[in-house]
Parts: sequence; structure tokens; C-alpha cells
Amino acid sequence: MKRVLLGVDVGGTTTAAGLVTAAGHVLVEERAPTHHAGPRTANRTIVELIGSLRRRAARDGLAIEGIGVGVPGIVDAASGRIGDEAPHVPDLAGQPLGARLGKRFGLPVFVDNDVNALALAEFVFGHGRRARSLVVLAPGTGFGAGVVLDGHLVRGAHGFGGEFGHAPVKFDGPPCWCGGRGCLALYASGRGIAEAARARVASTAGAPLLAAAGGDPAAITAPLVFRAAEAGDAVAVSVVDEACRALGAMLGVIVNGLNPEVVVITGGVAASLAPLERRILGAAGEYAFRRALVRTRVVITPADKRVTMRGAAALVLYERELARGRARERGARAAGRAAGSRRRGGKR
Ligand SMILES: [Zn+2]
Repeated sequence: MKRVLLGVDVGGTTTAAGLVTAAGHVLVEERAPTHHAGPRTANRTIVELIGSLRRRAARDGLAIEGIGVGVPGIVDAASGRIGDEAPHVPDLAGQPLGARLGKRFGLPVFVDNDVNALALAEFVFGHGRRARSLVVLAPGTGFGAGVVLDGHLVRGAHGFGGEFGHAPVKFDGPPCWCGGRGCLALYASGRGIAEAARARVASTAGAPLLAAAGGDPAAITAPLVFRAAEAGDAVAVSVVDEACRALGAMLGVIVNGLNPEVVVITGGVAASLAPLERRILGAAGEYAFRRALVRTRVVITPADKRVTMRGAAALVLYERELARGRARERGARAAGRAAGSRRRGGKR
């Protein structure tokens, strides 16, 4: 029987689930609106998708080895419990999702933050598959990030590890929706870019960007800002310039602070950032150690929901490998103790 993994990417709008091989190939994929059955039904949608894929697997003679789930928000990966704040799927906040799914389906279940899963997708199957360290920056509506160092996902002591989207790039910058100030997300996320442009067009009479948005500042979106910048709109140019410089400064923090082999910039905004790669790297050159930066592979690649789904599957492989490593260590320690007691016994 062919063995597969079941990966689930829970999004604020859409949840995608798939059967994924250990090599990262998606065999079957299903999607549903996360709250298609009404408010507070994310859990039901997840259970339905997993149930449907289990039936598909049984029909196709596939054995599911484990379930991985990526969720937007802070997750206690050890217990599979979602943190108390999950703004994109508030009905999952505080829920013991891992334990609940494990009990229901009788399979090993691993739950983590969706961008941690994305980082594992790149590490196990993607741009970092030959590397030991990588950082993923994922500017979308918000700004997620994930870090793998020396083969280990950096979750931090309480699940906040690697949240570079909410690390400051300007210490006296404006307040951020996370409660901090001067965060990278304010300058380079979809929400941050749109809000900065809205605030500036309001004080710039006759701005072409405002005209492009039909005269309604609320209709300004990040893709519109990037397009207006290309056309030379002064407000849009200044906002995009700040986005490039903020990402450059964060690359400086990452390269000088962690020195990873690979940095992957993905997420919903990445498609707009890809043509600006030289400017972003040029800005990074102002902050990063030059010799470290030139040896860092920076990849800007558009987001794809399937990558996070594959990342959730990679989470199963990653956790299984960690457990094997721990078992080997325990075995080696036990063997060491046994040898020690034999030596002591021999002296008696
Ligand atoms: Zn913030």
C-alpha cells in the first residue's frame, strides 16, 4: 500500500487539503470556503475535508501516515493548541485542534503556524531542500515569517519565534496593529502598503493613484499601488520605495543576525515584489554584511496555496524525523548508562 501524508492549509477565506507523497507531490487536492457552513464552522470544514480525503485514500489504496495542519496565528505546536488570538479564524482561538483531530481520526496529527509550515515546505521540498538554514518572509495581507536553522524550525519558547513581520525596521515608526511600532508589516505587507498609500493620497490633491481608485481612498489596494508606482505616481513611488527599503533593512537583520543560506520571499505581495528584486537587494546592501549578503541566496517567488498544504505534509515528515532523532538519543544514552554500569560492576 502506497504511503501518503495529509496536509491541510487553513486560511481565513479558503481551506485546502491534499494527499501528498513523501517527495512532496500532491496526488489529490480539495478546497472549501473555511466558513462555508456559517460562522464558527472552521473546525467542521477541516473535519469534512480530512474525512473526504480519507475516503479517497481508502478507495485509491493509499495509507495515510499522518496529518499536518497549518493555521494562521500562534500555535503551541507541542500540544496542537491554537493560541488565544487567531484573527483570521477566530473560532479556532484557544482550541485543542491537534488533540481533537487525533482522537477523531486515530492518526498522528501535527498543528503549526501556517508560515512555519510554509518554511518547512521550502526546507523539505522547495528552494531550501539542499540547505540547512533558511528564512521565509511571507508578506500577504499581514506579514508572516518562518525560520529553519541547522535543520530545526525555530518556534521559540512560546511559539512566537521567527515573527520577523512584526520586528521593527524603524524604531520611532508609527504604531502597528500588533501593538508594536515601526514593524516591517507596516511598510511591506498588503495591508501596510494600502494603508500608507491611503493616508498619503488624502493630503495630495489630484494624485493619479486616487483617480485610479475611482476617487475613493478606501478602494486603494497594494496591487494598485505597485501599478501606479510603475506609471510614475509620486505617492505610489514613495510607498513602494519604502517597501523595498524596509525589506532591505530586514534582510540586513536576517543576514547579520542569523546568516541563513537561503531567504525566500513569498506571500501574496511577492508577485509585485519580484520585478523589484534588484532594488530590494540594493537596499539590503546598505545594512547587511557585504560578504554575508553575497553568499545568501534570496529567492522571490509568488505564493501558491498548494505550497502551504505541502508544508503541512512536510510538518509530519519533520516531526517524525525529530521523534526518531530523540529516540536515537535516548537509545544512545541508555546504552551509555548500561556500559557504565557494566564497567562499575566489573570493578566490584
Ligand atoms: Zn507589528
